[in-house]
Amino acid sequence: MKKLTPMMEQYFQIKKQYQDALLLFRLGDFYELFFDDAEIASRELEITLTGRDCGFESRAPMCGVPHHSVDSYIDRLITKGYKVAICEQVEDASEAVGIVKRDVVRIITPGTLIDTQLLDEKKNNYLMSIYGQADGVGISYVDISTGELFTTEIIGEGILQGLQDEITKIQPKEVIYYIEDNVYWKEFFNEICKQFDLVTNDHDHWCFEYQYASNRLKEHFNVINLDGLGLASTHNGIISTGALINYLKTTQKRFLGHINKINVYHLSETMVLDYSTRFNLELTETIRGKNKKGSLLWVLDKTSTAMGGRMLRKSLETPLLKIEKINDRLEAVGTLKDNIGLRKELREHLRSVYDLERLAAKISYGSANPRDLVALKTSLEQIPLIKELIKDEKQLLASVHNRIDTLEDIKELINKGIVEDLPIALKDGGIIKTGYHPEVDKLQLASREGKEWIAKLEEEEKLKTGIKSLKMGFNKVFGYYIEVTKSYLKQVPEDYQRKQTLANCERFITPELKEIESKILGAEDKVVVLEYQLFIEIRDIISKEISRIQSTASAIAELDMLVSLGEVAAENNYTKPNINSSHIISIKDGRHPVVEKMLDNQMFIANDIYLDNEDHQVSIITGPNMAGKSTYMRQVALIVLMAQIGSFIPVSEASIGIVDRIFTRVGASDDLSQGQSTFMVEMSEMANILNCATKNSLLILDEIGRGTSTFDGLSIAWSVIEHISKKISAKTLFSTHYHELTELEGIIKGVKNYRISVKEEGEDIIFLRKVIDGSADRSYGIQVARLAGLPAEVICRAKDILLRLEEKDIARVDSLCISSGREEAVATIEEATPVQIDFNSLYQNNIIEELKE
Ligand code: ADP
Repeated sequence: MKKLTPMMEQYFQIKKQYQDALLLFRLGDFYELFFDDAEIASRELEITLTGRDCGFESRAPMCGVPHHSVDSYIDRLITKGYKVAICEQVEDASEAVGIVKRDVVRIITPGTLIDTQLLDEKKNNYLMSIYGQADGVGISYVDISTGELFTTEIIGEGILQGLQDEITKIQPKEVIYYIEDNVYWKEFFNEICKQFDLVTNDHDHWCFEYQYASNRLKEHFNVINLDGLGLASTHNGIISTGALINYLKTTQKRFLGHINKINVYHLSETMVLDYSTRFNLELTETIRGKNKKGSLLWVLDKTSTAMGGRMLRKSLETPLLKIEKINDRLEAVGTLKDNIGLRKELREHLRSVYDLERLAAKISYGSANPRDLVALKTSLEQIPLIKELIKDEKQLLASVHNRIDTLEDIKELINKGIVEDLPIALKDGGIIKTGYHPEVDKLQLASREGKEWIAKLEEEEKLKTGIKSLKMGFNKVFGYYIEVTKSYLKQVPEDYQRKQTLANCERFITPELKEIESKILGAEDKVVVLEYQLFIEIRDIISKEISRIQSTASAIAELDMLVSLGEVAAENNYTKPNINSSHIISIKDGRHPVVEKMLDNQMFIANDIYLDNEDHQVSIITGPNMAGKSTYMRQVALIVLMAQIGSFIPVSEASIGIVDRIFTRVGASDDLSQGQSTFMVEMSEMANILNCATKNSLLILDEIGRGTSTFDGLSIAWSVIEHISKKISAKTLFSTHYHELTELEGIIKGVKNYRISVKEEGEDIIFLRKVIDGSADRSYGIQVARLAGLPAEVICRAKDILLRLEEKDIARVDSLCISSGREEAVATIEEATPVQIDFNSLYQNNIIEELKE
């Protein structure tokens, strides 16, 4: 076998350490990929696969991308789930003895993006680390583009559910984990990863060993013990965080100074919203299409900065439980709602504030360029003005005021050092301001004078030679030259040396010109190097102040969120809720915040609700399809949730007793295309609610039980309501088409019937959308089907069948069976059917099958 070329030997040495990543190997102006990596990249990026001699018989498959456009290619590979290792030349090629040294300087993974188009400005990009053992799990996540790091631990019961809730809330772009072998939920965890399509790395065990992990933490945070980080009592949390920091260290290969704080939290501090609740309430995206438009966030987000947008999103996902904290926010929102002038001014200034968190991260990471520093300066110019605007405010706004550091020193430093109108190509210099550094001034002067001299020379030579079209030019190959068009060639003086001939002109140089040129270019070369050094110096000084920038950024984000809530409250006519610990939810004229926005000119009909733990605990809501049941129930959940994030709400008046959790479930019919029966999902979710809900929870159950046959569904719904009422006492809204359930009013304490009113007009029904006491007597399914455009013939036949069924009183059979349970129900039907119903005139088989099922 032939021997590898030295370069290929180097390649293999490096590639060996990065088996799981695509290695982008820097060769001059290109990043090249070889062998399998090349085949993958050429396919994924649609670039040509070529070959290169590597010393073997056959050439090495190879493909490459130019270094100046590498970012967009990396983005594409990351989006497709690959890891990319960037291998640079780490010594100056001209100084290299033998082959130039190369090394991997960074590994980019979906969870470690810092400066790319892939980042959504109003959304965090998290990398999550999970460590699980028999009785607990540690969960940590970090956004390296902002520096935020969070850690929590779940111990004892409900680990898996808690873990799933956190994963679906955080929506990490990448997960690293280690789950010990004896953990019963290990397999379920793998399923969750599959279900949510998580990019995961099952990690080496030793990274998740306590001693190793805690040492990494101590190193990174430069502390002797972990108590000061707030991690002391979280064994699993220390492991997951330590492993996370270790992963960052091995992939980013630099000190990440902007990750300087661990936010340790407990799930019990905020309202827990599980995945299906968040999904069904469409908090941040719609169920269909996954769009922000149509979600609650879409209505509430009038933030002016990216940081404010991200904070609002987080607040929406973690509503508060502490009355004082909620009231603090409500006070501030109220102030901003009432003071339109203040709000307007604040928004104007906030709009000019760039993403301070991500700028700070880039500075600390060492990837910020001069333009980023100018953006930072422009933002910092707004900060004192913003601070001044809220200087007389009280409470939360006063606290925001105190937390804002105007960072004048940083602004001054950038102001003195960096040019505002930066040139497009930053590598050619022109970034350091005159007056900042004497040597730069000297060199810039030399270069400027040289250029002026050349301009003067042009005039002189024109006069001297009489060549009117004579002009000076410059290109990278020949430097400065004198250009003369063909028709004047005869007048060219003897001391001109010909350098280049073009179609209609020739180019010359003179010794004098070259002498000046070397002065100009020498000065320019030097100044570019010096300017870059000075820029790095400035950036390094700022990076020592990162935590000050971060604190100000978080205060500004909070202010922006409050201004946004004030703006939305004013715009949509929201009112301040009375938050208390009363166990009562009482809403007057409540509206659905999103539906009312979607109904262009149509009026949204407002409705009341009253729920408590006594006589009004379960509301059973009936009404035809399309009447507005789902809208009504969701609006109650959304209003409570909004109130607990400290937002004003779409009501005329409301008193909200704090709710510990909101659960929302939608009964579904089987959807075989999803593989798993959705009835199964519905039931397992229902099981979770019955296990987790407390008397302080709010339950929204939309047609639970509809995914199975009538009797089964009805029986399940019935016993679920009984259980909720008797055992849990949770406030519940329950919509149903099983009118039999309305019989529970009067039988079970706390159950009340409501219906959404409709008016019959001849063949049609008109939706009045008003929720009133009592139960609907009919479903109006046929009328709704007619509205939906079912052919007249089918409608006619359906009416006919309905009439016959009603005559035979199937409904009575249903209700008869309900209290007895499934086996008896089937027996009752089998006995009852032959005598009670003349099936011959119906579609016999189908119906018998369904009844028997
Ligand atoms: P159901 O759950 O009873 O089938 P929905 O709640 O889905 O009905 O409501 C159907 C549609 O009716 C909604 O999409 C909305 O456009 C409209 N709607 C519902 N409630 C109201 C209301 N209170 N005021 C105005 N329009 C409403």
